[in-house]
Order: sequence, then structure tokens, then C-alpha cells
Amino acid sequence: MPLVWQEARITAAVPETPRVRRLTLAVGWGKPFRAGQHVDVRLTAPDGHQAQRSYSIASSPTRPETIDLLIERLADGEVSGFFADVAEPGDVIELRGPIGGAFVWDPAEGGPLLLVGGGSGVVPLLSMLRHRAEGAPDVPALLLTSARTPDDVIAREELMRRDAEEPNFQLRLVLTRVPGGRRIDADTVRAALAALGTPAHTFVCGSNPFVSAASDLLVEAGLPARTIRTERFGG
Ligand SMILES: Cc1cc2nc3c(=O)[nH]c(=O)nc-3n(C[C@H](O)[C@H](O)[C@H](O)COP(=O)(O)OP(=O)(O)OC[C@H]3O[C@@H](n4cnc5c(N)ncnc54)[C@H](O)[C@@H]3O)c2cc1C
Repeated sequence: MPLVWQEARITAAVPETPRVRRLTLAVGWGKPFRAGQHVDVRLTAPDGHQAQRSYSIASSPTRPETIDLLIERLADGEVSGFFADVAEPGDVIELRGPIGGAFVWDPAEGGPLLLVGGGSGVVPLLSMLRHRAEGAPDVPALLLTSARTPDDVIAREELMRRDAEEPNFQLRLVLTRVPGGRRIDADTVRAALAALGTPAHTFVCGSNPFVSAASDLLVEAGLPARTIRTERFGG
């Protein structure tokens, strides 16, 4: 069935990090989505100018009637600027979805599951982790994610709690803009693979340069390319 634009109401808008805002939307599509999928949003200015962008769903599919989006404010960003600074609870926006058939994980697929996210690229991986915790907590999973500083880590408290409490989940955090900071590199990839074991499924998400660099490192570390799925946010 073709996707149709529909109205969705913003029910909450709260800061997630200094650069990322979490929006909760009540959606009327009445159908389940899959962890990893995204939606398209469309804004229309009073003069008729329209702007359309994609945003991954951060929340778990077990709560399909409301979705959380985590939107990073980009310098001069037309749409992210609106969501970061202007949108408020009660506003109605146009949205269509859920979208995406390849970058999705269902508990039935099992694991081990390696999730690699750069910055806001962690968003669809959060949906997978939340779904896994509810539906398949025995599946071993490791999230390797990079952020600029500790304050920029999206869902930091949740991820640290999961790392401490969930026996089959491990968090590997890489900070890029702190003294001694680094990027995800061959060493961090090797250490993650040693800790997890060979993943059956690997998901990589972030900006174009991040996805290219991380995918190359994973292939160089010996992972078959066919087991690696990627989602590029642009940039
Ligand atoms: C499938 C998919 C899912 C996505 N999910 C999310 C999400 O969950 N959260 C989120 O914050 N974004 C997500 N994005 C990115 C989002 O769609 C927009 O591209 C982003 O918000 C920028 O839009 P803008 O209108 O603010 O910026 P624009 O006005 O389009 O661009 C402003 C400037 O930022 C640069 N730019 C554009 N996109 C990026 C980028 N991703 N990284 C770095 N620089 C960029 C442009 O080159 C330009 O210089 C997703 C993209 C895709 C394709």
C-alpha cells in the first residue's frame, strides 16, 4: 500500500543533550513498525515552500501509537532547526511511514548483534536495543558508539544502566572531543569483536563519512560484508 502523508501531534519536546531534542509524536497509522525504521516529515511554510526530511524512530515497536524522534540541531539546518527551536507540544506536523525494509532488526533474527553508531546515528540502534531488551534479552548485543563529549551521548543514562544491569548487553563508548579523545578505529573495533564474538548481524549508522569509515574497519577486521547493514544520515 502506498505511504500517505498524515498528521501527527507533538505530545512532548524535551532536551536529550545540548544538541539533540527528543520529540514524542502521537501517530495515527495504527500499524506496527520495525526497529530501525524511519519516518519522513514534511514542513510547509506560509508561502507554500516545503521541506522534507527523514528521521529514525528511537522508541520500541512495542509502543506503536506514539514514537520518539531524536533530532540533532545542525548549523543552518532548515528542518532540524525548526524541531530544535520552534516546534512545541500541541503542534501538528505532516508525517509518513514507517519506512525501511533492510535496516531493521526483529528479535526472531537473533544475534550476536553488533550496533555501531556515530552521533545521532545511534537513534535507530536505540530502537533495536529497546526491542531486544523486551523481546529477546538473551541475544548478545554490543553497542559501539561515538560522541563528542559525555554530555553529547544520546540516552547516556539508559545505556549505562543497560550496560550495568543487562547481562548480555555491552556498551563501548568512544569520545572524540575530550582530552585524549579518539575516533572509532581498528583497535576499538577489534576490542568490540573480541568482547562480543563474531556478530551474526551488524548495523552501522551515522553520517556518510562515519558509515564509510566504520564499515571499512569492520570488513578489515574480517566481518563478511553481507552481514553488515548500513544507514547513512547524510553530511
Ligand atoms: C534514513 C534517515 C534517517 C535519519 N534519522 C535522523 C535522526 O534520527 N536524527 C537526526 O538528527 N537526523 C537524522 N537524519 C538526518 C535528517 O534527515 C536531516 O538530514 C538532518 O536533520 C539535516 O536536515 P536540515 O534540514 O536541518 O539540514 P539542511 O538544511 O538540509 O543542511 C544544513 C547543513 O548540514 C549539512 N548536513 C545535512 N545532513 C547532515 C548530516 N546528517 N550530518 C552532518 N551534516 C549534515 C548539509 O550539508 C548542510 O551544510 C536521517 C537521515 C536519513 C536519510
